[in-house]
Amino acid sequence: MSKMTTGMAPFSIVDIRAEPGTRASGYVPVATRIDGSTIGIPVIVVNGTEPGPVLSVDASCHGDEHEGTLAVLRLAQRLDPSRLRGTFIGVMALNVPAVEAMQRGNPFDHWNSDLNRLFPGALDGNLTQRIAHVHVNDIAGKADFSISLHSGASYVYWSPQGVCGQNQASVELAQALGEEWNVLWQQGGERAPLTGNCTSALNARGVAAITIEVGGAAERLPGPFDKNVDYIVNGIINVMRTYGMLEGQPTRARSWTLVRQRAVRSGKAGMIVPEPNLTLRSFVEQGTPLLRLYNLLGQEVEVVTAPIDGLVMGIRTYQYYPPGWPLVWMGEIVGQLP
Ligand SMILES: [Zn+2]
Repeated sequence: MSKMTTGMAPFSIVDIRAEPGTRASGYVPVATRIDGSTIGIPVIVVNGTEPGPVLSVDASCHGDEHEGTLAVLRLAQRLDPSRLRGTFIGVMALNVPAVEAMQRGNPFDHWNSDLNRLFPGALDGNLTQRIAHVHVNDIAGKADFSISLHSGASYVYWSPQGVCGQNQASVELAQALGEEWNVLWQQGGERAPLTGNCTSALNARGVAAITIEVGGAAERLPGPFDKNVDYIVNGIINVMRTYGMLEGQPTRARSWTLVRQRAVRSGKAGMIVPEPNLTLRSFVEQGTPLLRLYNLLGQEVEVVTAPIDGLVMGIRTYQYYPPGWPLVWMGEIVGQLP
């Protein structure tokens, strides 16, 4: 069933209520800490004056991925409720305990602490599962479209990619990001069934959902960081134009390359030294050297090569890795969309 807003209807998430043409914000409660304070999910609602879709955008599912948080802030500042059709739901920090701890997962959960592996969550689960449950049921579940914002944190640096599911509505939402987002990583399928992340849980419930991956802490300084935030903001504005929420002509890529993610692992431990010509989004042929591993005596111990033809989509940003870790993520090209 469509969740299109009707006429001048108010929009509510639990007790956060935005009248038509207004903003509202507050916390959706999740659980009570041992000190009696409440852990909740912060929500910003911008409710338009005309009917239109409901779009939910969440950031900081992982507490050390910062690009999306600033993107949601910028969007919330930029959107004028008097010129909006439908409703924008912005979540600057889905996983507040992880944000407070400045780390990926929730420090209160020593097992199963990765929120983006625990969707759709559980009402009676651990704190992380409860955050997932509240988000799916009370926040993103109230939307027609959902976009989850991720980055490489300090571990990886990602080339911009829209991450979609197998369902057509998800693919179309990823295409709506516009001309700068012409590489789409399609998750799931029979070869790699996917459960546990926000996007798959929402797509299974009929909310068209995608994830965005871009950047990482390797470019956290202003300037390069803002460039990645702008990618996200521009992509979401383009989505809102595509679905009629905002005025303006949306852009479309000339074509989209559909990829399946392939992690490239080393056999040995070592310090990683990328090949000088290793660049994100470049196409490499199978067998091309990607990086070299050195031990701490200065000896080369392994040359890591591309296991397939494909695009270089992500590169590790730490210096030293144990054996068997993914060091480069490639996009195996599985299709083109016109
Ligand atoms: Zn993430």
